[in-house]
Amino acid sequence: MSGPVQERDAACANEALAGIQAREGRTTEVGGLPVARVLPTKGRRTVGAWCFVDLMGPADAEEPDPMEVGPHPHIGLATVTWLLEGEALHTDSLGTEQTIRPGQVNLMTAGHGIAHAELAAQPPFRGVQMWIAQPEATRHGGSDFVHHAELPQTETGGLRGLVFAGSLAGATAPTRTDTPLVGADLVLDRGATSLATDVGFEHCVVPLDGRVKVGQEVLEPGWLGLIPTGVEELPIAAETDATRFLVLGGTPLGERVSMWWNFVARDQGEITAAYRDWQARTDRFGEVPSSLTRIEAPRPPWLPPEDR
Ligand code: MN
Repeated sequence: MSGPVQERDAACANEALAGIQAREGRTTEVGGLPVARVLPTKGRRTVGAWCFVDLMGPADAEEPDPMEVGPHPHIGLATVTWLLEGEALHTDSLGTEQTIRPGQVNLMTAGHGIAHAELAAQPPFRGVQMWIAQPEATRHGGSDFVHHAELPQTETGGLRGLVFAGSLAGATAPTRTDTPLVGADLVLDRGATSLATDVGFEHCVVPLDGRVKVGQEVLEPGWLGLIPTGVEELPIAAETDATRFLVLGGTPLGERVSMWWNFVARDQGEITAAYRDWQARTDRFGEVPSSLTRIEAPRPPWLPPEDR
């Protein structure tokens, strides 16, 4: 009886691998840094609960202050800050002042509201800013900030790296997760391997250094590889040594999120309320200990011109 079942499983796995798609990110600028925004992408807002991925930098070597992001608010999301080079200072309305360096993770959970600022203290600066959409159960709740200086290393099938959220290949990060998800920074030398993944997760691969082949798709840095649920063994190949990439994944969110500016919500009304609270400086977001200039919210385009 095992034969037909295995054949059916193999057919499902092949179908899932055939569903892998490559998407080109778009370039923009944040706080004076060049940024490649790979998520959200055309037709896709979330991968698991991951809803935003920016590759920041590298900064122009001539620039003395490569990243200055003044106090700004968030709701309904957790920010994951991951550095590749340099160091940055995080301050927030909880009173946190935390320096982050490569190999460490900052997880800031906004809930109902938080404000923060980021300053790249040590150029050259290069990093990844990611957001995780909070589920209904926690998105109206309190805010929180945690810095994890030590993260578990993983080594499997020629892949090596750090797990900064969830579990991968037997390594589990201490990072809080409100929905089942995974995040890891992996390196593969020239060659091919396969990564054991959670079959119920959808995933994405974000190349950082070198070209990564995922299934039949070849991804350059600045591109995103989307992998549907149903994959247990993800084929990954590298053309050169020290090819580096992120693997992010999670249970499909199952809720349609509305994202505008720095807010993750479920509808325009919630975003309008957050916009007004930030502009009116209510105590929803609090004061950030930072000398950087406060960032005013752009006016939501759905508000009529006379509505302030
Ligand atoms: Mn932010």
